[in-house]
Amino acid sequence: MAGPKHSCGVVGMNATYNVVPSLQRALLVIQHRGQESAGLSVFDGKYVQTIKNNGLVDAVLNENSLRSISGNCGVGHVRYSTTGSHGAINAQPLTVQSVKGTVAIAHNGDITNYHALRENYFKQGWSFLTDSDSEIIARILSKHLYSTDEPFAAIREMMSELDGAYALAIMINGRLFGVRDPHGIRPLCIGKTEGGHIIVSESAALISLGAEFVRDVEPGEIVEIKDDIILSDKPKGPINKAHCMFEWTYFARPDSVMDGRCVYDVRKKIGIILAREAPADVDLVMPIPDSGRAHAIGYSVESGVPYEEGFMKNRFVGRTFILPDQSARENAVAMKMNPIRSTIEGKRILIVDDSIVRGTTLMKLIKLLRSAGAKEVHVRIGCPPVIAPCYYGVDMKTRDQFIACTHTVDQIRQSIGADSLAYISIDGLVEALEIPKEDLCLACVDGIYPTRIDGEKYRYD
Ligand code: SF4
Repeated sequence: MAGPKHSCGVVGMNATYNVVPSLQRALLVIQHRGQESAGLSVFDGKYVQTIKNNGLVDAVLNENSLRSISGNCGVGHVRYSTTGSHGAINAQPLTVQSVKGTVAIAHNGDITNYHALRENYFKQGWSFLTDSDSEIIARILSKHLYSTDEPFAAIREMMSELDGAYALAIMINGRLFGVRDPHGIRPLCIGKTEGGHIIVSESAALISLGAEFVRDVEPGEIVEIKDDIILSDKPKGPINKAHCMFEWTYFARPDSVMDGRCVYDVRKKIGIILAREAPADVDLVMPIPDSGRAHAIGYSVESGVPYEEGFMKNRFVGRTFILPDQSARENAVAMKMNPIRSTIEGKRILIVDDSIVRGTTLMKLIKLLRSAGAKEVHVRIGCPPVIAPCYYGVDMKTRDQFIACTHTVDQIRQSIGADSLAYISIDGLVEALEIPKEDLCLACVDGIYPTRIDGEKYRYD
């Protein structure tokens, strides 16, 4: 709840019918992954039509705007910018004209060698319309489409130039491809509908479309999504997986299943392990709505301490993400929560949240609890202390953002005003995820990166 922003969500669909309504519905479901801009591109059999702008999905892609477009194949995107400016020019899908027809790209993740690639291509005389790393993907793909006959080969060549995190939905002249970076840092899965297939960042979108989950796109895999079959090209040689642990602890919807693990189940298990690692003598367990809820249920189940809702969210308070600075956003977040005095008064309360980045929001919430009469406030956190930046598409860019870089756990406890504070351990988190540690990215909590980043520790050295 007090955590960082995500970068984006992507979707692509190929079917025997008009995919525009389904793309729009899928984007509504993955709206939590990005609220800055929304868009979709569809191929009508001859041309690609794109509608995109800054704003939420229902503002940009509504009945009016979508009335004029239709097609059996398309890609869509919701964005929170982590590379590139916030302007509508960086809204996606991003389209370029290639020798093989129009290329439309929807991208989730960050390309870590973006600046080097851009510099290199500037020197070769290229120019760019945007400052988004997604444009460089589109242009490099376009270059390789010129020199190879087969889109699979062109995409493989493009991947050989890119480092970092990317889950992509790509449409090339009406053919739809899904691509996941060689470590599978960002999620991407495939679903099947009556008469079509869909690729999407989170499986929760499949449920809302009545689609059946088929499988995850594997790390380094390229799939071509046709209405009736899925074609695949997998990388040769060993695969070093590094799935982002933050997807399960914070970003993804609880009803999504990613790389074989249901987000809700993982969060509940985190709560169970937190109760074992950091018990507390309290009267009730309370979540910070909404993302800490499953963690708190797990804590309550394991500890036997009753679970109660002590905060009510004011759902219609304005959108905090558009506020101009961090402190304005944090004040607005606190305004969104009303404590329920009858639940809280005179009680020793344990609150469970998904993460602490700066700690300022949590501090405000603890003050609210105390003003509503809480006798004690204990805090448990479902993610180990964040101590290192994310270069893979999460808005945690510099170490000075992280309170855990400069404060001990006890100093953080004091600064947020809690009676006790404990984080889940890295081993406890891995146990909850039930995914081998070597298949996870844990870089923001252990400082060891799955790809080479200048000045940072590389996992495979
Ligand atoms: Fe996820 Fe953290 Fe790795 Fe970024 S550094 S991909 S947030 S685990």
